[in-house]
Amino acid sequence: MMKAGFIGLGGMGEPMARNMAKAGFLAALWNRTRQRAVRLAQQLEVECAESPAQLAERVDVVLTCVSADADVLEVVRALLPGLHQGSLIVDMSTVSSETARQAADLVRQKGAEFLDAPVSGGVEGARNGTLAMMVGGDEAALEKVRPVLAAMSSRIVHMGVVGAGQGAKAINQIMCAGINEAVTEALAFGARLGLDLTKVIDVISAGAAGNWFLERRGMSLLQGLFEPGFKLALHHKDLKIALDMAARIGTRLPLTEATLRDYEELLRQGYGDEDISALYRLKRPAE
Ligand code: NAP
Repeated sequence: MMKAGFIGLGGMGEPMARNMAKAGFLAALWNRTRQRAVRLAQQLEVECAESPAQLAERVDVVLTCVSADADVLEVVRALLPGLHQGSLIVDMSTVSSETARQAADLVRQKGAEFLDAPVSGGVEGARNGTLAMMVGGDEAALEKVRPVLAAMSSRIVHMGVVGAGQGAKAINQIMCAGINEAVTEALAFGARLGLDLTKVIDVISAGAAGNWFLERRGMSLLQGLFEPGFKLALHHKDLKIALDMAARIGTRLPLTEATLRDYEELLRQGYGDEDISALYRLKRPAE
């Protein structure tokens, strides 16, 4: 059985690591804020590594789920001294395709393999082990590690070379932006009409406009509860990645540009650590 190590025990990483442990793959953990790793390692009865490199020495596959581009490269550089021939790194953070390629170049110098494997499905998907995972990199390496990844995901699709997983994830994030705009704007409209929005969400969820975000965030956003979920500052980071990619291929994303402007306003107001459904703050009628 492959031995796996997990780095980045945040909102997504912690439940993913728990599922790895449940499936019997998890051997070691590491987190920048050490206390989080110590606590979870005790609970799951696995090793709490002293450093990313020490973790890499101990396992066959290193799974990472950290915040942004610079963080992935920092963690990958810290792993390098511990990598060995045949080591596998699977990064599940959402970053640019370019960062995935840079990370892959770094680990290949050590005879190791890198897969970009961003996920979708939110903290609920992470908890339930039902994430959708889009993977870029060597297909044989993916097949080797697929049983490990299947402990966290209900759908794993090979997209192409390194960076292709992040390309697919950018498409996902562009759609999420449009859905967030549409749902929050439409519910604010409904509030102004004075309709019973519990009934609205119930009936619309069963029809053509039903969607994941409406079903899982509709009621909480109406109550003014914006607990993440998915932090607005992280989606803002993803939309900037998508706009950079669009600029490179000479296309525009007007909906994404509008969402980015809204998020920038919310970041200015100090709501970056709230869920993306906090967009409703800008749309809802004044009390
Ligand atoms: P989070 O709760 O903010 O957790 C971030 C994790 O990354 C923490 O463990 C943090 O360590 C670690 N980290 C950040 N920078 C680091 C660095 N330079 N070196 C080492 N560790 C570092 O974020 P999250 O919601 O779990 O998201 C993680 C990634 O998954 C992001 O790329 C996000 O876009 C993506 N994602 C999120 C969702 C979602 O719904 N939340 C869904 C799909 C994908 P500390 O404990 O020390 O802060």
